[in-house]
Amino acid sequence: MGVVIVDSTAVLVVGAGPAGLAVACGLLQHGVSVRVVDEAHGPATTSRANILHARGVEVLNRLGALGDLRDRAVSGTKMTIHLGGRPVATVRFGKVEGAQLSALLVSQAEIEAQLGRRLAELGGGVEWNAALVGATRDDAGVTASLGTGEAVHAGWMVGCDGAHSTTRKEADIGFPGAPVTDQWLLADVHADWDVDRTGSMGWYHRDGLFFAMPMREAAGSENLWRLMCDISLSEDERLDDQEILDRFRRLLPERTGLTDVRILDTSWTSVFRIHRRLADQYRSGRILLAGDAAHIHSPFGGQGMNTGIGDAENLAWKLALVVRGRAHDLLLDTYEAERRPLAEDVLRNTTANTRLMVSEGRLMRFLRDRVMTPLSNLPAVQRWATNSASQLWVSYRRGPLAGPGSRMGRRPRPGDRVPDVACRRSDGSATRLHAELGGHWVLLVPDAADEAPVTSVRKRLGEYVTVLHFEGRQDEVRLVRPDAHLAWRGRPDSGRLDRWLDDALQQGRAL
Ligand SMILES: Cc1cc2nc3c(=O)[nH]c(=O)nc-3n(C[C@H](O)[C@H](O)[C@H](O)COP(=O)(O)OP(=O)(O)OC[C@H]3O[C@@H](n4cnc5c(N)ncnc54)[C@H](O)[C@@H]3O)c2cc1C
Repeated sequence: MGVVIVDSTAVLVVGAGPAGLAVACGLLQHGVSVRVVDEAHGPATTSRANILHARGVEVLNRLGALGDLRDRAVSGTKMTIHLGGRPVATVRFGKVEGAQLSALLVSQAEIEAQLGRRLAELGGGVEWNAALVGATRDDAGVTASLGTGEAVHAGWMVGCDGAHSTTRKEADIGFPGAPVTDQWLLADVHADWDVDRTGSMGWYHRDGLFFAMPMREAAGSENLWRLMCDISLSEDERLDDQEILDRFRRLLPERTGLTDVRILDTSWTSVFRIHRRLADQYRSGRILLAGDAAHIHSPFGGQGMNTGIGDAENLAWKLALVVRGRAHDLLLDTYEAERRPLAEDVLRNTTANTRLMVSEGRLMRFLRDRVMTPLSNLPAVQRWATNSASQLWVSYRRGPLAGPGSRMGRRPRPGDRVPDVACRRSDGSATRLHAELGGHWVLLVPDAADEAPVTSVRKRLGEYVTVLHFEGRQDEVRLVRPDAHLAWRGRPDSGRLDRWLDDALQQGRAL
């Protein structure tokens, strides 16, 4: 069948998982037209991720996609660890100091549904049954061939098509890495189990690990659990749903010591091996990658979807400025420069944690059982665990937009995330900083600031800028990026803000 180019669009997003939907919402918030295609027949009904950490909650809030997820979440993000069948430690993922929002135990399917709802509200939608099968590039953009026979010409293409990304292959970007552990079995099961549902549970056993996490269904039933355990399977061994359920029925009493649990049925099963892989590049000309297409790693710690949603937010405002002709495409190189080092950290930490948890060898097991597990009861360790899982600490201080002075001086420094603070609009009405971000930059100015910084920011960034006043130093202005990171701070009367804007937008770095 010959292909016909039926459309030209600013950005084609491939994949409607959390990363693709978040990129699309972000672009539309910035006034950029977008098409989203996905090879699946429709929205996912089963769920891989179950934890949305505080940073992910913040991003969804800025995108206007948080909806009622807080009401739908299972309360209590704690994990009780058992050794020899006895509870020996409880790690509580509490509130991060100074943060307004905390982690939610909520299913990926519900998160995707909220992002889809927001996408529709912004005038977008997902084209299902539309797989990317090939792509060619020219100076003006990318022509994507879809499985439907259609060819779509777009100025830019963002591949959010997951671990086996066709976009990444078409862009000829390497994805080096290695397996981390043997296979894992997963089943979401309904179970008669008279146990506290305000947290997850893990059992360390000499034959392997066993995890149980409470889940909530749309119907509101209170007996859905996610079960996971590690096992050894030969290369050619395949298990169907019933065989996986039978394994869990056998392994649950063996590894937990509990005999009064009745597993009734399953709504989803999976067998997977944990890999860590990182794309060599996040950008090749007019093709960009985000989410699992760019990085995969252990699911323990719940960082994958959160990192992908963070990629999406970082990329969307930059790509929007380029598409709208307000920035040179060099700005897009800062996306990789800011986000790839974070993914390297996530890969390193999740791999180390997973290896420690699985603990092959006596020394590792001793470390896990006798050192790390007792330590995890300490409130200071729990605060640290909550904070590091939250990704609220993420800073681009070492990135190209932060500039040479960013490692000194008062916090927040350029590149740091700016906490949510109370602000006032020009008419005196109260608001909060994060509520005004998302689709907009915010310029925080002193009460009696002159118009110069406002004029220079509007001249370069256009209408997507909001000017606010805050209770802070009255001798400086702060420019906050749409993703809540500090772009620049300094005296209102200096020409350095103009210079930062020109360097950042036209050269992709602050000099
Ligand atoms: C067991 C498990 C538990 C996890 N728990 C957590 C957790 O608690 N918290 C967390 O943050 N992360 C968790 N993760 C990771 C998380 O699920 C992923 O990181 C996340 O789904 C990645 O989102 P994405 O949008 O990048 O890709 P995906 O969710 O994989 O979406 C990719 C989309 O692209 C589509 N697609 C693929 N190929 C094509 C093509 N050629 N053309 C068009 N469309 C295509 C697919 O249909 C799909 O809709 C977990 C993972 C696993 C396996």
